[in-house]
Amino acid sequence: MSTGQILVCGTGIVGLAAALGLARDGQKAALLGPRKPPEPARPDIYFPRVYALSPESRRFLGELGVWGMLDMARVTPVESMQVYGDASGHVALRAWQAVQSEMAWIIESSELERVLHQAVQVFGIAWHEDRFAALQNKAVLTESGRVLPAALVIGADGAQSPVRQAAGIAHQSRPYHQTGLVTHLTAELPHGNAAMQWFTSDGVVALLPMPDTSEGHQVSLVWSMAEEQAKTLQSLPQAERDARLQAGLLAVTGGALGRLTVRSGVHGFPLFLERSDMVAPGVALAGDAAHRVHPLAGQGLNLGLGDVAQLLGTLRARPRGCEPGQLNLLRRYRRARAEPVLAMGLVTDGLHRLFASHSAPVVMARNAGMQLVDRIPFIKRRLISGASGQKPW
Ligand SMILES: Cc1cc2nc3c(=O)[nH]c(=O)nc-3n(C[C@H](O)[C@H](O)[C@H](O)COP(=O)(O)OP(=O)(O)OC[C@H]3O[C@@H](n4cnc5c(N)ncnc54)[C@H](O)[C@@H]3O)c2cc1C
Repeated sequence: MSTGQILVCGTGIVGLAAALGLARDGQKAALLGPRKPPEPARPDIYFPRVYALSPESRRFLGELGVWGMLDMARVTPVESMQVYGDASGHVALRAWQAVQSEMAWIIESSELERVLHQAVQVFGIAWHEDRFAALQNKAVLTESGRVLPAALVIGADGAQSPVRQAAGIAHQSRPYHQTGLVTHLTAELPHGNAAMQWFTSDGVVALLPMPDTSEGHQVSLVWSMAEEQAKTLQSLPQAERDARLQAGLLAVTGGALGRLTVRSGVHGFPLFLERSDMVAPGVALAGDAAHRVHPLAGQGLNLGLGDVAQLLGTLRARPRGCEPGQLNLLRRYRRARAEPVLAMGLVTDGLHRLFASHSAPVVMARNAGMQLVDRIPFIKRRLISGASGQKPW
């Protein structure tokens, strides 16, 4: 199947997965981007970024041969989700209710990067430690002035995507004016492998289960809050910031996991809803380069891995003699991704809007709706599939 070289620009998780998948399919693949070896894992210390990976993503990483390379002592299966509204609303989703054993797995970004780096090395994939600068005819110009041939350029170069800009691919972006604050917490009570989420009109708090350490029970926090509030918190001296975070968390969670103690640095990520046209002649985008969604459903990376799985499938199924950069082929990829990307954007944006409202009737309706959902097994099965990234809600 090998034709010209396929150049993957961007060396995050999505780019590494794309290059690995191409190499496994017998395509000539190369990576272009910074090569930062993942930090070595330290017992009892977790890397700040963690992801909730869906069963689909797990399956795909299995196909790439990297799932089995993960250190399972650092991976936490999610067996249930507890979702709370800002009044009496509560929905409990348990994997067994949809005949599943797990809904997701919580994994540190560094652990995923570690196994992908190893696999890329094993497959001998060329890695150009340079940066994308411009597109040329069937080639890419790097920042240091090298010209790399490319029958297809895969732009997996993140939200700012220089590849997207160079290819002139249409792109819409809307800021949420919110920041996702992430940190690790020690919890007084065990999490029981449940992911917990509180939707309030001031933001969304998610607590993701992590393996216990000698310090006690561990959860990873993603708190999506107004950017002003996040800025104020982050500008405080550490002890005061942590004390405020802990008091705020106790108030929102009502002590569901007892006292929560900040045990790592606090990092903030600006939140956006973004969509793009995904392809141009000789160029296909994947991951955050192609789209971004609100992290309240923990699905951004899952969408990116879904892009890669689909793009590999489209390239594999192309007729003999069809160049990988042909626009009609790449349009097939875009068509296949349009629905899942749009649906995830609509669901996450819809939930964000529903819970951002302070209007009393809306507050009452959304909490009553949650109570109703909690009593209907059929809807719960649908929700569990959605929360597992299988079928958007
Ligand atoms: C608070 C928060 C929580 C989240 N939680 C989850 C979750 O639980 N589950 C989930 O699925 N998703 C989650 N996401 C989304 C997830 O973080 C992203 O979707 C994912 O990291 C995107 O990966 P990527 O490889 O596409 O982009 P990136 O990780 O941004 O990688 C882009 C790469 O491109 C490289 N690059 C940039 N410019 C150039 C250039 N000129 N030349 C070459 N290379 C270049 C960069 O160095 C980088 O290596 C969350 C997001 C946020 C903000």
